[in-house]
Amino acid sequence: MADFVSLFYPKLCLGCECLLPKGSDYLCPKCHYNLPKTNSHKLEVPPFREKFDGVIELRHILVYADFFKRGLIQKVLHHLKYGNQPGIGEMIGRRYGRELFECGFSDVFDVIVPVPLHPKRLKERGYNQSEHFGLGLSQALNLSINLDTLIKVKHVDSQTRRSKLSRIKNVEGVFEVSDKGRFRNQRILLVDDLLTTGSTLVACLEVLQQCEPRSLSIATIGGAK
Ligand SMILES: [Zn+2]
Repeated sequence: MADFVSLFYPKLCLGCECLLPKGSDYLCPKCHYNLPKTNSHKLEVPPFREKFDGVIELRHILVYADFFKRGLIQKVLHHLKYGNQPGIGEMIGRRYGRELFECGFSDVFDVIVPVPLHPKRLKERGYNQSEHFGLGLSQALNLSINLDTLIKVKHVDSQTRRSKLSRIKNVEGVFEVSDKGRFRNQRILLVDDLLTTGSTLVACLEVLQQCEPRSLSIATIGGAK
């Protein structure tokens, strides 16, 4: 049946719009190969560390690929967020997770926590894109994913047109944890779709710190310099 349907609605690569070969989902092998990967997990001083230096202590900063305006990651994230295609997040999470696993990240974290959406936004979109990225990572790294402890309690406006300072002020009091004992002594991997200023991630990390975790790390699909 799937083959029959694809005769009429062929699946195209999100990057180059070529016809996807059998076994490929969302991106063709060439576009996968051409993704501007950061390889942050292999570098002693990972890129993007300066966004967190002096703000919060992080064990690992894992960014899958560089985000450029009109670049491939921007296209992919746009489809993931607004194109009703949560499977993209899982596909990238699984790929990234396998790469991390092969580089010794098999026993580095205890739990994955996605940056939550406000319930109102979740209802509009139908899914949380960061959760689907986290699901893919959790499968490849054989980790549990926690969806009910870190919660978003305040709905904030889109951050895109705000200055850096007002973005930081804008996320104060936005996130909470429902159970402060839940992550005690655990190695938490917080996941989101995109790292820009880092203000949303820092707001989540500060709240997670109240749970006395053993360590905090982050993973995102894209990172903007
Ligand atoms: Zn392609």
